[in-house]
Amino acid sequence: MRIDLHAHSNVSDGTEAPATVMAAAAAAGLDVVALTDHDSTDGWAEASLAARAEGVALVPGMEISCRTDEGISVHLLSYLHDPAHPGLLEEITKAKDARLTRAERMVTLLAEDYPLSWDDVIHHVAPGATLGRPHIADALVAAGVVADRTEAFASILTSHSRYFVQHYAPDPAVAVALVRAAGGVPVFAHPVASARGRVVGRRTYLEMIDAGLAGLEVEHRDNPEDGRAYLRALAEEHGLLVTGSSDYHGTGKPNLLGENLTTPDVLARIEEQATGTAVVRP
Ligand code: AMP
Ligand code: ZN
Ligand code: FE
Ligand code: FE
Repeated sequence: MRIDLHAHSNVSDGTEAPATVMAAAAAAGLDVVALTDHDSTDGWAEASLAARAEGVALVPGMEISCRTDEGISVHLLSYLHDPAHPGLLEEITKAKDARLTRAERMVTLLAEDYPLSWDDVIHHVAPGATLGRPHIADALVAAGVVADRTEAFASILTSHSRYFVQHYAPDPAVAVALVRAAGGVPVFAHPVASARGRVVGRRTYLEMIDAGLAGLEVEHRDNPEDGRAYLRALAEEHGLLVTGSSDYHGTGKPNLLGENLTTPDVLARIEEQATGTAVVRP
């Protein structure tokens, strides 16, 4: 069984439509794939139909952008939650709206130094999609400022850049509790991805565990090996599930579907804990 529990479509910052991601998952020889767009479940319906047609099982999911009281970015994966749960829906709607204002501010700052307009950015965003820095990166690529998203993130768009603007994001422990309240299973995404920015300390892990954290995404290309050892020890100590995933973004990132996998027993335990919605099986 080949199970990959983290993939994005153009409902957020992936480059392919949800149906195309399902076809790509089948082509990559996956048996199970999770669709985990940033702060949105809008791709679930299309992905469900396509998954059945492609003969791949779909785990409906989402990736929630969070920020700690110390200003550290945390990504939380939610699996199998109720997409209509009012508390969770309110929180991601607030974040999605804030992302729009934030992107407008970033483009205003960037436009002082680069040939970039708001229309150039919107050109790269599917209607209703969750806006992110990758879409701004696409406009910078089109303008010939950088070669690809990776170069944009390594320079102009890093969180240290003078063009970077934050957006509203819930506290990670609050988000964990909301995912549980919505019947979902919360897993901390790429927890030690230090190249992206500061990573959280023990206190944040303990707060998230107290709030109901189910697992840690250990096998992810952005987690350095020493950090993975720390995560495995933490999972052992607290009885957390350990997942492995690609974080596929179509052509937006080098990450390939199936480059990391989750074991069938871990998927079974995620399903046991979930009450919000079910895995879509062909
Ligand atoms: P944002 O949520 O708008 O702050 O943008 C962060 C998102 O950009 C992350 O969720 C990643 O999916 C994506 N991202 C981060 N680093 C890179 C990179 N080097 N290349 C392409 N996409 C990236
Ligand atoms: Zn992304
Ligand atoms: Fe992430
Ligand atoms: Fe992701």
